[in-house]
Amino acid sequence: MSKLAKTASAATHFGEGALPKIAYGKGSYLYDTTGKRYLDGSGGPAVFCLGHGNEEVNDAIKAQLDRVAHGYRYAFTSDPLEELSEIVAWRCGGGLTRMVFVSGGSEAVESCLKLALQYHSAKGEMTRRRFISRQRSWHGNTLGALAISGFRDRRLPFEGALTEASFLSAVNEYRPPKGVKPEDVASFCADELEREILRLGPDRVAAFIFEPVVGAAGGAIPAPAGYAKKIRAICDRYGVLMIADEVMCGAARCGTWRALEHDGVEPDIMSVAKGLAGGYMPLGAAVYHERIAGPIIERYGAPLTGHTFTGHTASCAAGVAVQKIVTRDRLVERVASEGAKLKRRLEELLGPRNYVGNIRGRGFFLGIELVADKETKEPFDPALQVSNKIRERSFANGLICYPTGGNVDGIRGDQIILAPPYNASAAELDEIVTLLDRSLTEVMEKLGR
Ligand code: PMP
Repeated sequence: MSKLAKTASAATHFGEGALPKIAYGKGSYLYDTTGKRYLDGSGGPAVFCLGHGNEEVNDAIKAQLDRVAHGYRYAFTSDPLEELSEIVAWRCGGGLTRMVFVSGGSEAVESCLKLALQYHSAKGEMTRRRFISRQRSWHGNTLGALAISGFRDRRLPFEGALTEASFLSAVNEYRPPKGVKPEDVASFCADELEREILRLGPDRVAAFIFEPVVGAAGGAIPAPAGYAKKIRAICDRYGVLMIADEVMCGAARCGTWRALEHDGVEPDIMSVAKGLAGGYMPLGAAVYHERIAGPIIERYGAPLTGHTFTGHTASCAAGVAVQKIVTRDRLVERVASEGAKLKRRLEELLGPRNYVGNIRGRGFFLGIELVADKETKEPFDPALQVSNKIRERSFANGLICYPTGGNVDGIRGDQIILAPPYNASAAELDEIVTLLDRSLTEVMEKLGR
């Protein structure tokens, strides 16, 4: 292997030769170049909502490529761009009718942040520059998104170059903030937002950004009932915009198209990405409300955000094809009903184990938190690398799951996310449970559990 090739493989944590080489995918399965088969239980990181090798989606992309790959935004609009805009606006409902399509989650979040800042600028409120976020959150790897991500270990190498942000307590009923009862988490955390806005001065705060169901930084943690409505009211009270980061939990992953639909709450601005084109092409979007667009258009003519590949035509064609299948095959409804069944199965089978602390999540976005002590909720010693071992055993057993863990904002822990394709069959969902059970049992037996 050449020196350059070594550099490329070192871009993962796993070291050279540690990862299999992908050959192809079909349905819920992936195959490596040795012919080994893997059941995709996590959609990579909750991306592949229609599985792999979907011919309808592939045909739509190929047909678009045969016409033209991309119409640059200052020269052309396109049918796929316009059609996808209609679909997303219809799916979001209410006033979330404006959007900018980008190449992925981080770009979508960056666009959300910039839209919030531009809105306040347009209204002459130039002091509203500060973002409030939460601990144990992941909003992306670009500098702006990283600056508001509650994941200290990932921020540390870049400290000093990141804009200052506020980080509130993680919203987690299983691990409430110190001294707070699980049933008080919603009120406590909402009050904390209000206190921080007042501490900073409302006229200095641009927006509050949060994941309705926390993904990579926590392992599919939904907020308790009532939390979203409380923070909506607080944001409104102080003119602070609410940004929902639905890059991972949105696009039907949680059994409603927008994750926040579940809470009956509409954000001012929202990001969506992974499930939008299901990994068939790179695609994300920042979606914003009419009331945010008004002042921006009046003052600047259009949002000052966008890139060369904004509204990429073939990516939008992929998005249209994926979303049409999601609608035609009633997959939002399927994710809601089958997700509830899958969660019950996990609870019945794994819930009683002495190393399973918490099973949570919504739809096809489920998290299992592993603990050394069920009573005290003491996590495993990080030196044991439990998440990583489960990843390795699952791979060996032919299952791809998404372990999260390590030290996230000082909170240790090991979690596994399951995020199967929306169209995974009942037999495939059963197989995910069987393979996960086997992998977990093998790892825990080795640890003497
Ligand atoms: N926001 C959330 C909630 C995410 O989960 C992620 C990716 N895991 C991002 C933003 C960043 O997305 P991307 O990796 O596509 O840039």
